[in-house]
Amino acid sequence: MATAVRDFLGLLAADPGFREQVVHIEPVPPRRARYGDLSRPLPDGLRAYCDGKGVRLYTHQCAAIEHLRAGENVIITTPTASGKTLAFLLPVFERLAADPAATALFLYPTKALANDQVKVVRELERSSGIGVDAAIYDGDTPAGRRPAIRERSRVILSNPHELHRVLAWHVKWSRFFRNLRFVVVDEAHRYRGVAGSHMAMLLRRLARIAGHYGARPQFVLSSATLANPAEFAARLTGEEAIPVGEDGSPAGAKTFVLCNPSAGGGGRSVHSVTKDLLLTLVESGCRTLCFTVSRKLAELIAIRSGSVPGISTYRAGYLPKDRRAIEDALKDGSLRGVVTTNALELGIDIGSLDGVISGYPGTMISVRQQAGRSGRRSGESFAVLVAFENPLDQYFMRHLQAFFSRPCEHAVVDTGNPYILSGHLLCAAAELPVDPERDGRWFGADLPEMLAAFERVHLLRKASRGWIYAGQGRAADTVGLDAVSSDTFRVMHGARLLETMDRGQAYREGHPGAVLLHRGETYAVTGMDLDRQTIRVEETDTDTYTQPLSTTDVAVVRELRCRDIGGVQVSFGDVTVTEEVVGYTVRHYGRAVSYHRLDLPPLHLETKALWFILPDRAAEAVAAGGRDLAGGLHGAEHALIAVMPHHAVCDRRDIGGLSTPLHPATGAPTIFVYDGYEGGIGLAEKAFDLLPAITGTAHELVRDCGCAAGCPACIYSPKCGNQNQPLDRVAAVMILGDLAGRLSVMGAPL
Ligand SMILES: [Zn+2]
Ligand SMILES: [Zn+2]
Repeated sequence: MATAVRDFLGLLAADPGFREQVVHIEPVPPRRARYGDLSRPLPDGLRAYCDGKGVRLYTHQCAAIEHLRAGENVIITTPTASGKTLAFLLPVFERLAADPAATALFLYPTKALANDQVKVVRELERSSGIGVDAAIYDGDTPAGRRPAIRERSRVILSNPHELHRVLAWHVKWSRFFRNLRFVVVDEAHRYRGVAGSHMAMLLRRLARIAGHYGARPQFVLSSATLANPAEFAARLTGEEAIPVGEDGSPAGAKTFVLCNPSAGGGGRSVHSVTKDLLLTLVESGCRTLCFTVSRKLAELIAIRSGSVPGISTYRAGYLPKDRRAIEDALKDGSLRGVVTTNALELGIDIGSLDGVISGYPGTMISVRQQAGRSGRRSGESFAVLVAFENPLDQYFMRHLQAFFSRPCEHAVVDTGNPYILSGHLLCAAAELPVDPERDGRWFGADLPEMLAAFERVHLLRKASRGWIYAGQGRAADTVGLDAVSSDTFRVMHGARLLETMDRGQAYREGHPGAVLLHRGETYAVTGMDLDRQTIRVEETDTDTYTQPLSTTDVAVVRELRCRDIGGVQVSFGDVTVTEEVVGYTVRHYGRAVSYHRLDLPPLHLETKALWFILPDRAAEAVAAGGRDLAGGLHGAEHALIAVMPHHAVCDRRDIGGLSTPLHPATGAPTIFVYDGYEGGIGLAEKAFDLLPAITGTAHELVRDCGCAAGCPACIYSPKCGNQNQPLDRVAAVMILGDLAGRLSVMGAPL
């Protein structure tokens, strides 16, 4: 297979069609395995299992085992396929063997992953002879089997949604919680932003219940590589954790190929370049996986590649047996190319591949996970990245060293969102009486005020042992683990619930006439009922998309932090954002083809924001250069938001911005960057800490863009409510350059 990879690289170099677009080829040398030793041997059964599988432990596995033996919490952040699962399974089983009552809870983000992993756990159970009665306990578990699992199983695999419901029934689970020694959170990096805030509160509720029964479980987090593993783990679990990230597993040589269709005036579309790459690869005999952003694109590429046998599409909507068939064909080689939406990114085994083609998936975390799909322990493989014309992709195409040397992003978890916190407080009060003294450590300093506020609205009642839930219905039903508030809209496709949206997202993306992308499928919104909070959609096959137009105002409620960095006054605090979605444009390949008015009530968002005042000298320089200050500030605001995902994992949609040459709260030219969620999710706060680095990246992005007056690769924003008006690229470069220069006195933490 190594020759197939080399043939492919040769073809790329020889073909003038590719030569122009290949901006960079980066060989990553193979890595030898580094093995470790344990301070004392594993029990016989576990040793027999390892010997039977030919497993010799890598250094990072040994490190994780020793830390867990020592009673510490651990976050393991080594790459895909480095043996992370074994690194925690072995010490967990060791403890369960030594203590015949001990139990462990494994949490997976999806049922599919739990179903996949239970096989591994059961095999270990069988061949080690350590009986743990491993079982899945989730929404699919038949009612008749549940009591036996609660009473007997020592390893239970579940998911956050199930745990959220189970905690109220802890009395039935007393054996399990009393003996709980380990809580394993797999794919922990997925719990960030809103999901992270919920998971953090859920794990605190779990620890509180375990504590009630006298147990204090250790946490094991298995995660993709992150820039801030220790901080992330501490935020998520409320406890200190030791990061284990130095990978001892071997890897074959890998070649990264960066392709930029918009380079050299190219004029070719990303799709056609992707299709040609796929064909070239498959023809060279490489087994290749091609990721696309939408189902439509996946099918387009597959159809255009139709002349070549051995290429198929794969997507989330397929029936399990069809998916299995594709996976098997890929493994046995009868299929050589598979085009898929990101549905495949999550841990399902598809065997080892020669290569992966993808766009920039939005984070380095995903780049490494997708690239991790190709390659094997030895032998060569490659990853081709095809850049879209947007700031995130284009920044990397121009700053290659940043791409290959950059640490992964920070994963942000905010435990202070009052809306999320209060929902979980109600759940906690329904599980066990809440005592302001004892439970302050779980629910923060504002706990007494929250309790009093809930008493006033009769949701909590003070009893002798603490505050108890007094609301109607089950407390757990009032908290959705995917949303901040219960003010959500349901998106219905016929009788099927596609997804839920908060009110702001519903107004912006779910208004009548909107085109909606959901898991790679395209839908048209046919109706929106504001009273019932329901959005109706139909499947559609359109090439167009829609963009909302809005006006935004930000009012400062309270400044929480403020600092002067090199003469720039930077603040962080509570704000109220008022947004009116006034209409939308229908767009076709970036061009607006029609405009429609909307009549929606204004949105009010109480959230957290970062803001800073442009120093007088910078404003004067812009004026002296004959440039437009408003256009420069607006461009700088767009660029700052565009590069945020390079520093802290988020989606552009998670953040909003406002810039103005004169803001009433500051009396000066000001830029605001705010969290797009009620109560905030920690992004603006992280940006406050990382502002020097973020400003530096934004400056490089705009300064180094080859365009004349701004373009989608630098200061145009696809979500600008003002149709990208006004924008002045030269002024934006002046402003960002001035800010970056002043802020750099701090030294960039990233
Ligand atoms: Zn540009
Ligand atoms: Zn804008």
